[in-house]
Amino acid sequence: MCIPNDSIVGSLVVWFARHGRPLPWREPGTSAWAILVCEVMSQQTPVVRVLPAWDEWMKRWPTPRDLAAASPAEVLLAWGRLGYPRRALRLQECATVVAQEYGNTLPRNREELLALPGIGPYTADAIIAFAYRKRSTVLDTNIRRVLARLHGEELPPPHMKKDEIARAEKIIPRDDEYAAQWNAAIMELGALVCSPRTPACESCPLRAQCRWFAAGKPRNAAPRRTQKFTGTHREARGKIMAILRSEHRAPEETPPLSRIIETQPHGMSESNAASGKNPTAHSNKAPINHKQVKTHTTTTTAHGIPYNELLTATALPESRFAPALRSLLQDGLAQRNGELYALPH
Ligand code: SF4
Repeated sequence: MCIPNDSIVGSLVVWFARHGRPLPWREPGTSAWAILVCEVMSQQTPVVRVLPAWDEWMKRWPTPRDLAAASPAEVLLAWGRLGYPRRALRLQECATVVAQEYGNTLPRNREELLALPGIGPYTADAIIAFAYRKRSTVLDTNIRRVLARLHGEELPPPHMKKDEIARAEKIIPRDDEYAAQWNAAIMELGALVCSPRTPACESCPLRAQCRWFAAGKPRNAAPRRTQKFTGTHREARGKIMAILRSEHRAPEETPPLSRIIETQPHGMSESNAASGKNPTAHSNKAPINHKQVKTHTTTTTAHGIPYNELLTATALPESRFAPALRSLLQDGLAQRNGELYALPH
């Protein structure tokens, strides 16, 4: 079933001109790189949390080359509590490729964008639409929900299928600039008006064309299970990362968990670290010789925190802590320095 296109596009674009939020990455002249950073940060993170982080990043690393030159620890610190920190490292990998192979400018071609680290179909299409003002089929969760409702369904299917993409393509204006406006406008409508549970249909510019509204908004979608966070592996990883970030700030900010080691400590094998096991609990060797930071000391400093103290600081049971730490090491989000754990340098 095809929806008449012209009236929907016109109504929505006019609504967006009046009601769209003045977000900084929508300013004319925003670079494609800045829009990519925004798109990556906005995946699974609300705009209100993205705004200050994006602002800081763009001041600090305005181009891919700037980000590529930063240390992974700096990047992870700046990422802060945006969540899913692997995105930050992938963004830095992408920056390195763009700086080295594309003259510090994001490519315009969809296939080339898709070949970059961390860029999938949604992000590539968003760059084409919002940075290069070209026709593309942008399908994020907000847009998919609005389109589903226009077609009479409460929610789109959990996984995107070809017919959903084909249906979306049909409604997008042929004109490049108009298509870019359409993509921004329908995304904004999904974010501000057509919310998942309580859409504000009384103020929706598409109410006259919405089949789900016309049908009385039947609950025809299977209830979605909301993802729990407490008790998950992700929560455990987040707690460890929070401690490691806090520890990394230590030298400048007098942190509680900084350590100074006088000599390279003994007692932890590679296999212990890889398995995430507590090294001191299973070793007859001497425990780590560490002490609290003293500003007047001249001993060798090393960033990081020993396993046992990291475990205690997270307040996690070791059955959750050990696999979470192991996965962070495997993902390159944490690093082992001797017997200390830290952000990667
Ligand atoms: S009328 Fe309601 S359900 Fe339909 S698109 Fe507008 S806000 Fe969404």
